[in-house]
Amino acid sequence: MELEPIIGLEIHVQMKTRTKMFCGCINHGEHENPNTAICPICTGHPGTLPVLNMVAVTYGVRTALALNCRILEHVKFDRKNYFYPDLPKGYQISMYDLPVGVEGYLDIPATSGAKESDHRTRIGITRLHLEEDAAKLLHSPDEQWSFVDYNRAGTPLMEIVTQPDFRAPTDARRFLQELQTICRYLGVSDADMEKGHMRCDANISLRPAGSTAFWPKTEIKNVNSTKAVERALEFEIRRQTKLWQTNTPPSTSTTRGWDDGKQATVDQREKEGEGDYRYFPEPDLPPLHFGPLQPIDPEVVRRTLPELPAAKRHRFVEELGVSATDVGTITNDPALADFTEQVISELHAWIRSTPDASDDLLAKAGRTAGGWIASKLLGIGNDRGTSFGESKATAENVAELLTLFLTHRINSTIAQQLLEQMVVTGADPSQLLEEMHVEQVSDTDTLTTAVEAAITAHPGPVADYRSGKSNAVQFLVGQVMKATKGTANPGVVRTLLEERLRSI
Ligand code: ZN
Ligand code: MN
Repeated sequence: MELEPIIGLEIHVQMKTRTKMFCGCINHGEHENPNTAICPICTGHPGTLPVLNMVAVTYGVRTALALNCRILEHVKFDRKNYFYPDLPKGYQISMYDLPVGVEGYLDIPATSGAKESDHRTRIGITRLHLEEDAAKLLHSPDEQWSFVDYNRAGTPLMEIVTQPDFRAPTDARRFLQELQTICRYLGVSDADMEKGHMRCDANISLRPAGSTAFWPKTEIKNVNSTKAVERALEFEIRRQTKLWQTNTPPSTSTTRGWDDGKQATVDQREKEGEGDYRYFPEPDLPPLHFGPLQPIDPEVVRRTLPELPAAKRHRFVEELGVSATDVGTITNDPALADFTEQVISELHAWIRSTPDASDDLLAKAGRTAGGWIASKLLGIGNDRGTSFGESKATAENVAELLTLFLTHRINSTIAQQLLEQMVVTGADPSQLLEEMHVEQVSDTDTLTTAVEAAITAHPGPVADYRSGKSNAVQFLVGQVMKATKGTANPGVVRTLLEERLRSI
């Protein structure tokens, strides 16, 4: 029997607001000592009242708009009741039936190297709602003690729920990566899964291919990287396929945790039913209204959205000439994308000022710049263990370096050496070049001498060339390059040699 996986995701994203969701405590207290970024509100003391952080609400609206959601006009907060030490109030303030955004979608980008239009998959977004994070529990290795750090309690969260639209684990991974990039572009979260800024639960069930029914699903929790989500789903497909093959498909919904060490999902407590949470409207917060004349008007927020990753990738390829292979790497980080755009616009301005400006040349410059930034510039950082943000090379200087390279004044080996120094010191490439005395020798006087010497010293290849073996010139080019210690421009050398050989 052929089986088809049905996958949906539930994602929690911590927002990077300055303060918490319902109090003035500093947000992201994980960097502080435990239980220092807390107050009576986020530790649930009796008699305290929540005050809504409107920046967090705006971030939620921004993200919902970027995910093509419809923003509801009226929304409210609800209490989700459950008892656990990480939740001192006994309930989490969340949103139940009236979330911020509904009915959105996100297109999964094509894999790197493929055209943007290829195998695009549209994933439906059921809803985006706001809530607060719980405290962090830490257990001693002998499991004798549990510790609670309330610094995380009250951190503003967005919960994003997708439709069960995924059919492949790799699509789930690419969706999460795209969502991370969008959050970074919007400035609402760093969305780093390893750091817990973004957490993902994945629901998966199998069904016979062609069937439209849904079977009881398994929820996988505790997955802390996009790669791990893909692996956990692959593992579940294998596990559930075996159950189907022995005629015992899952009969109830279950919860499993991902064990990174074992590379396997393991059984966890049964999932609580929705009714157990006894949702009811939060009486301590007024309902929210979105629209004109309200504190937050989605149409005004929409106008503040930056160019989103998909649009940027498309423009970088179509208008700037960046290759489809490099564009993903470059646009992943908004700062790197801005840097690249600046480099290319400088290169283009320079090309347009020259007599041989052409569309071909403009596209070539974009492709070269994209390639140099994606592989060489980032490669230097990787080798040194530093991030792009730590590179001292300015866009202006990188553009100048690439101009030297594109006009054949330096070859790629020397350009790479210069770039390495630029990254470390921020030096200007022309100045470095002067100091290094490596500028490619293109001035014909020096070259003519070397060409004459090569011809005199190697009568054999000269005779070969004159008898019609045009390849023989290659040997002579090599001799001149050797004599100039590799600093000559091989193209110029070849032209000079051919001119001279024809005149003999
Ligand atoms: Zn607080
Ligand atoms: Mn939640």
